[in-house]
Amino acid sequence: MSQKALFLDRDGVINHDPGDYTKNLDEFHILDGALETMKEWFDAGYKLVIITNQAGLAKGLYERHDVDRIHQYLMGRCVAMGFRIEECFYCPHHEGTTGRCLCRKPGSLLIEKALHRYGLDASSSLMMGDKPRDVDAAEKAGVRGVLIPVNKGPLRPADLGL
Ligand SMILES: [Mg+2]
Ligand SMILES: [Zn+2]
Repeated sequence: MSQKALFLDRDGVINHDPGDYTKNLDEFHILDGALETMKEWFDAGYKLVIITNQAGLAKGLYERHDVDRIHQYLMGRCVAMGFRIEECFYCPHHEGTTGRCLCRKPGSLLIEKALHRYGLDASSSLMMGDKPRDVDAAEKAGVRGVLIPVNKGPLRPADLGL
């Protein structure tokens, strides 16, 4: 059976996006119900993978250890609820400072990396994000992209008839 995945953007989907950057754990506020919804997807057989642009790194607004600390915290919260995120992939680049890369969404490199690393089936997977570039990245990788409103939390499987 092919392994399906739910790819999730981070800021504005799992945690509250204030409109610029989530620079450290103190600024990382998980949206109401987001973890419960993620567990529903996990229980429905989807591997969970985070795909996030973190251009604040290129801009020197925060450091990799800040990002890693957020992701460790998030993954720990999931484990405590009985499910897991496979991996949090992030792009640390920004065109204006580090030059162009293939991993910043709408680039699809991080999604493709995850598909390969975890043996995931693109055609039965989804990517949920709050920006058109999330959908564009997904579609380049052959994954269905779902645009959701910012800061409302991920859609549930039932919302999509899955
Ligand atoms: Mg976002
Ligand atoms: Zn990049």
